[in-house]
Amino acid sequence: MIDSEQLTGQRFGRWTVGERAMNGASGRARWNCQCVCGTTRIVLAKHLRSGKSLSCGCALKSEFGQGAPADAALRRERTIQEIALKLAELSALVAGLAR
Ligand SMILES: [Zn+2]
Repeated sequence: MIDSEQLTGQRFGRWTVGERAMNGASGRARWNCQCVCGTTRIVLAKHLRSGKSLSCGCALKSEFGQGAPADAALRRERTIQEIALKLAELSALVAGLAR
């Protein structure tokens, strides 16, 4: 049932779901979510699952302004991916030398 659904740790757009929050006045399940930019907010579970809520709003802002915190987070993710690629290249190189 809806009350027992487990969303903790799941990602919806830029949200990472944390602890279950108190139900709203409507009685619908709500969750504490953290956006990649660091903003935390309580979001309705149905908004997460339907894709109605994908971020705190910074996804829209970052398209217009540069240097938004969300961009920094995305850049960090990209840098980590680049380092991972470099490591893969290096290990291929080492494997080649060992031959
Ligand atoms: Zn955000």
